[in-house]
Amino acid sequence: MPKDARPTQYDILFEPVQIGPKVAKNRFYQVPHCNGGGYRDPSAVAEMRRTKAEGGWGVIFTEQTEIHHSSEITPFIEQHLWDDRDIPALAKMADAMKSHGALAGIQLAYSGINGPNLYTREVPLAVSGGPILTFTPDPVQARTMDKQDIRDLRRWFRNAFRRSQQAGFDLICLYGAHGFGILQHFLSRAYNHRTDEYGGSLENRARFIREIVQDARDETEGELAITLRLSLHEAGKMGFSNAEVRDFIEMHGDLPDLWDLAHGTWEQCSGTSRFTAEGHQESLVQGIKALTSKPVVGVGRFTSADAMVRQVKSGILDFIGAARPSIADPFLPKKIEEGRFDDIRECIGCNICVTGDMTGAISRCTQNTAFMEEWRKGWHPERARAKGQSDTVLIVGAGPAGLEAALQLGKRGYRVTLAEATDTLGGRVARERMLPGLSAWGRVADYRTGQIAPMPNVEVYRDSRLSPQDVLDMGAQHVAIATGAHWRRDVVARHHLFGITTDTAMPIWTPDDLMAGQGPTSGRVVVYDDDHFYMGSVIAELLIARGCTVDFVTPDVKVASWTENTLEQATIQRRLMQIGVRLHLSHAPETIGAQAVTLACTWTGAETALPTEAVVMVTSRLPQDALFHATRALDWQASGIQTLKLIGDAAAPGPIAWATYAGRRYGEEMDADPIGDALPFRREIAALLP
Ligand code: ADP
Ligand code: SF4
Repeated sequence: MPKDARPTQYDILFEPVQIGPKVAKNRFYQVPHCNGGGYRDPSAVAEMRRTKAEGGWGVIFTEQTEIHHSSEITPFIEQHLWDDRDIPALAKMADAMKSHGALAGIQLAYSGINGPNLYTREVPLAVSGGPILTFTPDPVQARTMDKQDIRDLRRWFRNAFRRSQQAGFDLICLYGAHGFGILQHFLSRAYNHRTDEYGGSLENRARFIREIVQDARDETEGELAITLRLSLHEAGKMGFSNAEVRDFIEMHGDLPDLWDLAHGTWEQCSGTSRFTAEGHQESLVQGIKALTSKPVVGVGRFTSADAMVRQVKSGILDFIGAARPSIADPFLPKKIEEGRFDDIRECIGCNICVTGDMTGAISRCTQNTAFMEEWRKGWHPERARAKGQSDTVLIVGAGPAGLEAALQLGKRGYRVTLAEATDTLGGRVARERMLPGLSAWGRVADYRTGQIAPMPNVEVYRDSRLSPQDVLDMGAQHVAIATGAHWRRDVVARHHLFGITTDTAMPIWTPDDLMAGQGPTSGRVVVYDDDHFYMGSVIAELLIARGCTVDFVTPDVKVASWTENTLEQATIQRRLMQIGVRLHLSHAPETIGAQAVTLACTWTGAETALPTEAVVMVTSRLPQDALFHATRALDWQASGIQTLKLIGDAAAPGPIAWATYAGRRYGEEMDADPIGDALPFRREIAALLP
């Protein structure tokens, strides 16, 4: 589509902006974000950043890069710049970032009180010593830096500035946000208890930052732009509050070449759509531009071009910062530039990408199935692989897996038939989007149905529940069964591997029932959660909204513990407590009677009776694979079917991102040469030293 297809009101987003000695070609600024690959997967990360360059971002950053081995955050996998041997991997990344005219930025971090040094075994150094403050309560303390340590730290930063320049970066971001970077620890009275010239007044607490910004300019001879990434508001007593942030910026308005501002903790900054709206940091950043002549970048899960234009036109931001929207759609700038708004693959705010970092795995994205597979598997967020020799594919089930498979195969040019039993496309997301806080998840279906609709080679049949014979009669060469899963009606999951005695007089419901509009609308209800992700807490919210009294029972020590990985756990637990849900942690049902559930403490076995009128089981899911097995029992090859596969939740229930990935994989691997037992992706392995 020609560029002039874009309405003129969006032109402002494509103006070049000066950042110190550099010029960004537009206002799209990919702020630093982790990806779970980091130093372990250098080519995978570089290729991921290259797709952002191709997609039109004006500025692209690395993730957090540790400048020195005396401060590292194992088990999280970020970047290292510990010595010259780390330069080539980062140079490859810088090169990829600059491949389409973007500026390449590196985020430099020294973690101080945030880095336990579990790998390097160095004594952690902090602005003020004390227990390491990270996601895991490691039994490690940091030592307070003395003046020599501070001089050393300045030297280590200088080494990192030089190496960053050698690697080819245009911008250096000094990290002092989310509670993670030592710059914030200097600024914050909560972390900085020093009584020397680096502690006390704001002027003193800012001293180290002034020094290293100057060091960065000296070391790079003013050739690189220097940016400061700071928290917009550190909550709590003595925290570096939004008011102090403003004082600091007023006092040091011209210190960096750009202010990169991000809300409080990572949890606050990267809030999920369940709890935070697009642009939720606006009140914290509004007015800051007036305190400085330097450009300001802020984030807010921006996916709407209109919201972006408003941020710039109303003088709040100069750059639209984005991590997750750039992950979900690396081509967001290009699509806006070309006026292709309907093609934007909007982030759903689920934070599955974050879980890749939190678990030390490689990240994935519910929406962008190519994320972190660009190099490993050669997948591309936009471009499809050339079509193979086959022609026809039948996909049964239009949930996330079936829709993604249909989309990928449609793009490749196959003739695709997508058959869906109900009148709604989207499967589980069509239902889950109706639950409290989850409406944005509907974008998983909306994007795919929108993309498929104009494809002449993809035919969609609704209200078409296929039988095994129907599958054979469709005459397709390849068949994917993507018929999903449903929630169990008993306790079987992790804590109970077998069912328990249950009185049939007690009404037992599942999330599927509630999503279908059934289940209790008043009275006492027990929600038993042995799933530990979002569903249990969402169901509790739904029941409270319906007017029920809710007792939330879980064998875990906290509510929704896996949502630690989506940065939501504390918010979820707080929400349930605030809306009056009664929590029964470390308990599980032992028997279910007609009017009460007998709970047993998971530690002592001590039993208590919990009166209730109904129970909702949020335990585990059963794959709906009957169609697959019944079809496979027929002579399907005789009807011309060459391959018959089970994909998505019907194969193994998991998060939505697992299903879209399965659909992508099915589409990508159609007509591929068999690889036998070979590894289905590329990886890099450490070179051995003699
Ligand atoms: P996934 O997450 O793997 O995509 P979902 O449960 O979201 O799975 O979606 C599965 C879809 O398959 C649902 O929309 C369901 O209505 C549909 N489905 C199940 N059985 C059949 C069938 N026999 N014929 C056609 N569609 C089916
Ligand atoms: Fe957005 Fe979810 Fe993708 Fe992360 S995983 S970028 S939150 S859609």
